[in-house]
Amino acid sequence: MNAFWEKQAEDLERRDPLNWLPDQYHHPKDLLYLDGNSLGLMSFRAKDRVLAALDDWANLAVMGWTDANPPWFTWVEEVADTVGSLLGAVPGEITLGASTTVMLHQLLATFYQAQGPRRKILVDGLAFPTDRYAAASFLEGRWGPSPDNLVVVNPRADRLIYADDIVKAADSSVALAVLPSVVFSTGQALPMVDIQEQLRARDILTIWDLSHSAGLLPHQLHHHDVDAAVFCTYKYLGGGPGSPGALFVHQRHWPITPGLAGWWGSSNERQFAMPERFESAVDAHALQLGTPSILALASLAGSTQLLAEAGIEMLYRRSQALVGFLARVIDDQVSGLGATMITPARQGGGHITISHPYGQAVSAALRARGVISDFRAPDMIRLAPVPQTTRFRDCLAAVDVLREILETKAWQPFTTQTGGPVT
Ligand SMILES: *Cc1c(COP(=O)(O)O)cnc(C)c1O
Repeated sequence: MNAFWEKQAEDLERRDPLNWLPDQYHHPKDLLYLDGNSLGLMSFRAKDRVLAALDDWANLAVMGWTDANPPWFTWVEEVADTVGSLLGAVPGEITLGASTTVMLHQLLATFYQAQGPRRKILVDGLAFPTDRYAAASFLEGRWGPSPDNLVVVNPRADRLIYADDIVKAADSSVALAVLPSVVFSTGQALPMVDIQEQLRARDILTIWDLSHSAGLLPHQLHHHDVDAAVFCTYKYLGGGPGSPGALFVHQRHWPITPGLAGWWGSSNERQFAMPERFESAVDAHALQLGTPSILALASLAGSTQLLAEAGIEMLYRRSQALVGFLARVIDDQVSGLGATMITPARQGGGHITISHPYGQAVSAALRARGVISDFRAPDMIRLAPVPQTTRFRDCLAAVDVLREILETKAWQPFTTQTGGPVT
């Protein structure tokens, strides 16, 4: 790598107020990890909290629900508030539970209201598959098989989703929209507040999927009057594989009557009275279903405590610096070698997506050289310099490997596994 970029990386590193943060994580040996937007690395803090929770289980057994520090019985509320502080939610607006997918089903069951011909759900054509499956199966359960009930807003030729197209598709047949804050494949950030305002003016409630922005963008969910949202906690939030899914419901919608009811949605005072009729909590915790996984909660507690200390504004600033730096290096070093940048420079989230006709083979060649990025069909390679764990010099080292692969066509041997070009 040339001296100019090395000097730039050094300068950025020196001036970086969060340069201590990557040292708080376990880094897999000899790998350049640019996949923290799929699974965040393990923080020392997360590991310590899991080990402590295991000790509590060993020493306290069932008494852990009341005697652990903090007691398991109310730990969801406590961790959810820490998560909420990273997304601009007030206490009680966020709860944690089963997977993101289940949380989305819960919000659909809770908020979907058909009125006459107004019964469709609007999604984007680049939606993460599970979101689309959930919306389609929910509609099918309600109305029987009728694919027309799903309104899909497709990207234009530049692969970007346009707010204007969403608004245009949101006619009087649409009851509800499910949209991402950041598109998982292309890294495009949507103008959430603007879109929501226009949909609300048409009586459409929006459920946002924040999986690719929670722990990254400085959301102001309460202040911006966001209706409802779901997100996973194992990407930027670092909760670990399969950590609790999260949902947000604005205080304005309380008290909430859950579409799907379960005993963990009870008000804490009444849960163990076990009344015959469900007496739910008034806030988002009404949407909890069953017993939370305490071990998964422990790792999320550790990682989010660390992130709260770093501060979401600082994390976002670091992300912007990393993404901007990586984009400049890619532009300088690999443009003209057959790769195209897809993520829009002024409308990006936390990762950069480039396309290449043999993207899958390029991605495989990167992995073979220890650069862990990922591939999304048909031709997209995602590189995520996450503000929690990536260093500026990691970006340089990764682009160096990418340039070498593209220059020497070192991806060619991998096409026997991955097939021909995407045209
Ligand atoms: C990662 C991700 C999910 C994950 O769903 P799970 O139920 O946690 O497996 C959902 N939606 C989006 C947009 C994602 O990026």
